[in-house]
Amino acid sequence: MTSLYRVNYHLRAHKRDPLIEFIKSMLLTPFVLHATPATTETGANASDLVDAHGGPQRPLVPTSPNVTDTSTWLSASQASVENPPDSLEGPHSARAALLTGPNTDAARANELRYAEIMGDVEDLIAEHIAMTARGLDKYSRLRRLVPTVGTFFTPLPLRSAFLAANARDAIASRRYVPPSFNELRRILNSAQVTASAPYLRFVTFDGDMTLYPDGMTFVADNPIADQIIALLRHDVAVAVVTAAGYATDTTRYEARLIGLLTRFAEADLTPEQLTRFYVLGGECNYLFQGTPAAGLRYIPEDAYRTSLSDWSDTDIQRFLDVAELNLRQCVRDMRLPATVLRKPRAVGLVPSGRLYREQLDECALSTQQCLLQYNKASSPDQGKIPFCAFNGGSDVWVDVGNKLIGVQLLQNHLAYAPRDTLHVGDQFLSTGNDLATRTTCSTCWIINPEETEGILGEVLEHLDQRNTNAPVAGPE
Ligand SMILES: [Mg+2]
Repeated sequence: MTSLYRVNYHLRAHKRDPLIEFIKSMLLTPFVLHATPATTETGANASDLVDAHGGPQRPLVPTSPNVTDTSTWLSASQASVENPPDSLEGPHSARAALLTGPNTDAARANELRYAEIMGDVEDLIAEHIAMTARGLDKYSRLRRLVPTVGTFFTPLPLRSAFLAANARDAIASRRYVPPSFNELRRILNSAQVTASAPYLRFVTFDGDMTLYPDGMTFVADNPIADQIIALLRHDVAVAVVTAAGYATDTTRYEARLIGLLTRFAEADLTPEQLTRFYVLGGECNYLFQGTPAAGLRYIPEDAYRTSLSDWSDTDIQRFLDVAELNLRQCVRDMRLPATVLRKPRAVGLVPSGRLYREQLDECALSTQQCLLQYNKASSPDQGKIPFCAFNGGSDVWVDVGNKLIGVQLLQNHLAYAPRDTLHVGDQFLSTGNDLATRTTCSTCWIINPEETEGILGEVLEHLDQRNTNAPVAGPE
């Protein structure tokens, strides 16, 4: 049993986020032990649900001698719902209990337990940050509990973020479905936005599935356009850091973002604000800057390149040869309806029919492993190429460089610190290309453009408050 569990866990590890799984597991204990349904059969009063220590006072299950006879219990329970007593006024009436009684108190008790756990995780993160500052992050409690946990650039107010989410979605009122991965992901996002807001000077976005649907263009009536314009009005710099690689062809990037650029032209943005907009294509390879005429202009590599991306063309082509070979092998082995496309700094698997997520993940993971081994085995005089091999949702790409380098290049070029920066993207699993940014800035993990709109709404609320209440915090 244990072995089987481990095998399954390892097979699915690339679909999990260790920190979110850890928080989920913590919340599962009160869910299992305390979030028990209060039925009319128990006759429980609201105050009976929690004893003086906050724990359950008695089991909230039928107490009749026939407790093992579930059919009797179920039919009795059903009967009480279908045929409610005449009086609905008395405090102990079945209907009153169902509507306002025990469940309300159980939800409140559950809310407090969940909030306490979120507060404890918040403390673990604060301790991890303090120990990281002293170079002792390896020894933090959080690192021991979640060995792969990375760097936090701000504390996370998880308790208040949970309470806000619960006030909206009544998470603690549920007794059959525990807090889910997506709920925790959204709570982490809200906490991150609250924490980042006082320092925020630079927001970077992934393209596909973050700003617009997969493979589509940014259309003019996309509500995110107004929000990006509002960010620029707040003098926050904005960059689209995308895997899309069209080399130095400005018109191709302008075509993908045509709706946004059209809205820029209509908005009364200053030339400074318009030139605070950037596009970085091919993860970190081709940089463009907004122009006062609401277009884009290519910035030559010499203007911003550093040792972060100092690779020779021979090394790049040799590296892409290996990646291409592996992708072709995948196509053959799995008989995939796909072709392999080579670009100057990328190689990809382009589908000609439907590819399933498992097939795409297999291509991404096997190519990752192959390239890691290649880099390890390379001779010292041969440059090690940082790369990103990822499942793009409907295709697989291997890019030279990655978004970590991309965001770092922009931070260095524009003089923004990690704490000033927030990256919003949809690919934060180990097969995704947004994951790498976690090393250099705070992040929000969304799953579609609608969630980007939601998180930007929260960001702008905070920025409006920041402008009215206090001066902008300076860099560290
Ligand atoms: Mg994406």
